[in-house]
Amino acid sequence: METVITRFPPSPTGDLHIGGARTALFNWLFAQNRGGKFVLRIEDTDLERSTEKSVKAILDAMEWLELTFDEGPYFQTKRLDIYREYANKLHASGHAYWCECPPEELEQKRKTAMTEGRKPKYDGTCRHKGLGPGPNRVLRFRSPDTGTTVLKDIVKGPIAFDNAELDDLVIIKSDGVATYNFAVVIDDITMNITHVIRGDDHVNNTPRQIQIYRALGAKLPEFGHVPMIHGEDRAPLSKRHGATSVMEYRNLGFLPEALLNCLVRLGWSHGDQEIFSRSEMIEHFTIENIGTSPSVFSMEKLLWLNAHYIKAKPAEDIVPLLRPFLAARGYPEKPDAYIAGAVRTLQARSRTLVEMADAMRFYMVDEVAIDPTAAQKFLVPEMSAPFERLLSEFEKLNVFSEATLEPIFRTVMADLNMKLGKIAQPLRVSLTGSTVSPGIFEIIDVLGKETVLKRMRKGLERMKQGAQA
Ligand code: GLU
Repeated sequence: METVITRFPPSPTGDLHIGGARTALFNWLFAQNRGGKFVLRIEDTDLERSTEKSVKAILDAMEWLELTFDEGPYFQTKRLDIYREYANKLHASGHAYWCECPPEELEQKRKTAMTEGRKPKYDGTCRHKGLGPGPNRVLRFRSPDTGTTVLKDIVKGPIAFDNAELDDLVIIKSDGVATYNFAVVIDDITMNITHVIRGDDHVNNTPRQIQIYRALGAKLPEFGHVPMIHGEDRAPLSKRHGATSVMEYRNLGFLPEALLNCLVRLGWSHGDQEIFSRSEMIEHFTIENIGTSPSVFSMEKLLWLNAHYIKAKPAEDIVPLLRPFLAARGYPEKPDAYIAGAVRTLQARSRTLVEMADAMRFYMVDEVAIDPTAAQKFLVPEMSAPFERLLSEFEKLNVFSEATLEPIFRTVMADLNMKLGKIAQPLRVSLTGSTVSPGIFEIIDVLGKETVLKRMRKGLERMKQGAQA
């Protein structure tokens, strides 16, 4: 059986967006599933809009998502001679001709056609002039005038295009650079691409591309066009729906596995399974299960997936991912083991690394700022006696763990005839500054004796100040 070769050919005119990443993922998965190859090609022939910065941004995003490629990155601007060579072949076989129509004249004709309600289409002025190359001339593909071109789309089914509707496309511009529709075909032929899986915004380009394959006598790849991604309001996904670039999601504290899992479900399904490990995605991915209607990107769902992966990941593995978020908040440096301990108490409560880093403040800073409302409610004079007792008992302890602390709590509370719950909030407020946090013993365990005692003493001071006020 022939080796499957897929490709991802982004144009480096911005960051890698959700739609592009989904296309890359589908091609990568299909190649992986079939034991094939995945090629990365940078389509940089639009010299004005392509930038080095975008190339880097795309490569970084692919690396973050671990979408590894077997070949490339190829750059179209380094392949211009290959396109010219194929263009010459088309010219020699009569499938292409040089055109000298001045752009202003073409523009005028286009406007007239529009005002007369006709489809603007090249009128074939230079079709039979037999011109050779020269300054200001472009090479046009001689598109068939009659018949139909059928795209046998492996996602959408067959789509027929009337050849009379298709223009004599420019394949080489007057500066000698190939146009997108031509370069893409030559690349796909010479890179032995077997499957072209891309967004359905390219459906209308495909009959033109098929005609070029035919004129060159080349074998067609399989084409599969995947429906667009919409926002929850059913409009095409755009900036106004929120973050659109892959790296923005990293900065918002998402894990790559959560984003990949979200992307794979945009237009593809496997029964009603929602959670897919990388190997499950590879194992189950088929083109047959790509849907034919637009998929909806939901932030809620991505958050749900991210919460799942944050919870499932070993705390030690979260630490390096979390570090940049901790540094951005200016927290003092702490050892990995300490941070891992804190992470463990927050994994079940954080949907993103941003939420986790925010919630981690009280573990990281030397002194917690106590929320005034919480202080007023819980750091009250009646609490100072039990607090003082607890403090003196804690001070005597050498081993500071849930196992040693719990019995002390019980004894003190029983002696004072108070419920355990009554002291938990004042203690939590003293240790964390707020009324919401992980379990009290978990916190104590991470903070350690010295910090706990220091913060309890401060809490006690506040209680006593309250009494004087
Ligand atoms: N460079 C094109 C794009 O980014 C690729 C289209 C294709 O897959 O042929 O849309």
